[in-house]
Amino acid sequence: MALYGGIEAGGTKFVCAVGTGPDDIRDEIRFPTTAPDETLAQAVDFFRRHAQQEPLAAVGVACFGPVDPNPASPTFGYVTTTPKPYWAHTDVVGRLRGALDIPVGFDTDVNGAALGEHRWGAALGLDTFVYLTIGTGLGGGGMVNGQMLHGLMHAEMGHTRIPHDWERDPYGGNCPYHGDCWEGLACGPAIEARWQTSGRDLAPEHPAWALEAHYLALGVTNITLMLSPQRIILGGGVMDQEQIFPMLRKNVQALLNGYVQKAEILEHIDEYIVPPGLGNRAGVLGAIALAMNAAEA
Ligand code: ZN
Repeated sequence: MALYGGIEAGGTKFVCAVGTGPDDIRDEIRFPTTAPDETLAQAVDFFRRHAQQEPLAAVGVACFGPVDPNPASPTFGYVTTTPKPYWAHTDVVGRLRGALDIPVGFDTDVNGAALGEHRWGAALGLDTFVYLTIGTGLGGGGMVNGQMLHGLMHAEMGHTRIPHDWERDPYGGNCPYHGDCWEGLACGPAIEARWQTSGRDLAPEHPAWALEAHYLALGVTNITLMLSPQRIILGGGVMDQEQIFPMLRKNVQALLNGYVQKAEILEHIDEYIVPPGLGNRAGVLGAIALAMNAAEA
């Protein structure tokens, strides 16, 4: 069986792995995301070292963004307008292909994770689903009718608007573009700024989590109504707080208020709103799934 490389290219760290799937990760390395030259060179070194023993069929990159995921575009495979220092307009795919001389699959970090969940995890057998990550930021991707969700650019679900009750929550949000968009209210750093404490140090019964479940439910309800996904998967560091899930499910049912008459919502919502089947390996395994697609293309 052919061997693949995967890069979970995050804004704070890169995770690189070599393998063929969840039960066969041969090696993994992680290092901080610094400047593109240094960080991409570290990734290339890792894959070259492995390729000396056994050639890689392809490499996949599940990348922080915004990115250009359109293969027909002249800037395909670029990180485009990111505010992250040094990374704006970086040709990630071109550099990797130039250095490794193998096919490179490329998509957003959330679409990558969604693809991994589709191949091996919580979205097995589905053709329309959404993967959300709630951590340093809030992002969403997924598949619609069997195709990864792309379109004009790619979905930016975290920057949609949800109602903000200023009386209940006077915190103004932390999105540099919109203030109190969904990400601005519900990402990890927003929780920390609002409560002046890292989420990791807030007790499970702290009111922060009920508010978080409320905000997540507003966005999840919008997505349910807009894309009609068969399942919504929520990962990322904030969702390690497992107490959020039951509150989130209840809030979504309350917000929908019986309008979507499907057993998935009314009776089996614990199988509709779920954590990733691949846990916190969804990202890097998704990158390997992108590599597999690139090798087949
Ligand atoms: Zn925003």
